[in-house]
Amino acid sequence: MTLSEKDKAYIWHPFTQIKPGNTPLIIEKAKDCTLFAADGKTYIDAISSWWVNIHGHANVFIANAIAEQAKILEQVIFAGFTHPTAIHLAEKVIQNLPPHFSKVFFSDDGSTSVEVALKMALQYRYNQGIKHKNLIIAFENAYHGDTFGAMSVGGRSTFSEPFDPLLFEVFHIPIPTQDNFDALILQFNQLLSEGNVAAFIFEPLVQGAAGMQMYKAEHLDKLLEIAQSHQVVCIADEVMTGFGRTGKLFATDYCRHKPDIICLSKGITGGFMPLGVTVCSEIIYETFISVDVAKTFFHGHSYTANPLACAAAVASFELLLGEICQQNIHNICLSHAQFADKLKDNAFIKNVRQTGTILAMEFKTPENSSYFNPIKEKAYNFYLENGVLLRPLGNVIYIMPPYCITEQELNIVYSVILKSIDFLQL
Ligand code: PMP
Repeated sequence: MTLSEKDKAYIWHPFTQIKPGNTPLIIEKAKDCTLFAADGKTYIDAISSWWVNIHGHANVFIANAIAEQAKILEQVIFAGFTHPTAIHLAEKVIQNLPPHFSKVFFSDDGSTSVEVALKMALQYRYNQGIKHKNLIIAFENAYHGDTFGAMSVGGRSTFSEPFDPLLFEVFHIPIPTQDNFDALILQFNQLLSEGNVAAFIFEPLVQGAAGMQMYKAEHLDKLLEIAQSHQVVCIADEVMTGFGRTGKLFATDYCRHKPDIICLSKGITGGFMPLGVTVCSEIIYETFISVDVAKTFFHGHSYTANPLACAAAVASFELLLGEICQQNIHNICLSHAQFADKLKDNAFIKNVRQTGTILAMEFKTPENSSYFNPIKEKAYNFYLENGVLLRPLGNVIYIMPPYCITEQELNIVYSVILKSIDFLQL
């Protein structure tokens, strides 16, 4: 059997419709922004491989950090034990967040970091003896992951439909826009006054899987102010927006009011290892300090704070805070803005939007804007044929490159998008 045949025989791929023709590309190696396929073709990874590889692929500094760690300590149980690399990472995370954040809880990925946040917020209330407060508010079309709690706070859609009857009840509100803002504030105030709201969870500034829907920091700021005036726990899901994506280290850095809990994953290890962290304020943590065993947070994963993942994260953080990476982020923001300007009068494009290193545009098609818009497959294949990995969310095309992307590579991505506009109109 060829490798492709073996893949088909043994592997079930994520978010992939099982139908003829959906054959995955075999990538044998990768370096910086380039993926090298088994058939000799190369691809510019313009979406950081599902938004994780912030420093590109096979970064030697991170690879060495993992290799060194692997020779010393590859894994150790994290209940009753700890290790230096997790401590260094936690310190680094806390030092780079607003001062009220005090404790880091480790998990495995974005979904588990969200599960932890939800359970933490609910048990925080429970530990305080406020057991009736268990309603969660989230945004419509939100995406927080694929586990049951994360799915529950996510928007209801074709993704969740088979499980909808089992998802817990969540109140979904629209993301703020200039037009709906006053009405939204009224609705939000009313909901919070009813008194049974425990938490408000949101993807700050950019809803990723919803199609890179963007909204203003000042609007989020107002929602945070109101929620916190009602003692509602605010959970920022920065799984996608964290680690420089929006131009600042974290998207909530654009807000004056800060969340109480923050979920981080994806870029945290520079795409080398799976890792999630949920960081909470001291006020939340304090309610778990007790001689009463029932106040324990009974949550933990086998690989909690895996030393290899922590080593990758410490190294990735160092690169991220370095001058070169910060300059690269700045340059991508400027290039995107110039390209966006070029696109804004294009008749085939409905909407061009940018937040930091994320640039998104909606292609005008006879069908509605949706993840299932049929242009998606045509566009995806066109980009691959032209040597660029872009994975449209329906008719929303977006670029979320590794920060090490060169100006030349970025220009190739832009020109392939321009070419696709001509091609897709045919
Ligand atoms: N939250 C957000 C905002 C995400 O974008 C994602 C993944 N795309 C998740 C949570 C889930 O992360 P993971 O796929 O690592 O479980």
